[in-house]
Amino acid sequence: MSANWYPIIDEEKCTGCLSCVEFCPHGVLAEKDGTAVVVAPEKCVDFCRGCQKVCEFNAITYANGGEQK
Ligand code: SF4
Ligand code: SF4
Repeated sequence: MSANWYPIIDEEKCTGCLSCVEFCPHGVLAEKDGTAVVVAPEKCVDFCRGCQKVCEFNAITYANGGEQK
């Protein structure tokens, strides 16, 4: 469980490819109206950057210090 670390989707950059939704094994992300949305931030794993790594559009950052690489 993570109250302080979870993804933030940049709606301007997100293309709706849904790679992140398919990748995350914890059900944190889901599709809504053609883009990815964060539906269960409390299930995100501290310091996991899995979905950021699979996003080809640099649309994912993290709450509390998750700078883009
Ligand atoms: S991988 Fe990136 S561009 Fe694709 S749906 Fe997720 S946030 Fe959007
Ligand atoms: S950081 Fe990891 S656990 Fe959190 S939403 Fe992305 S892939 Fe899932």
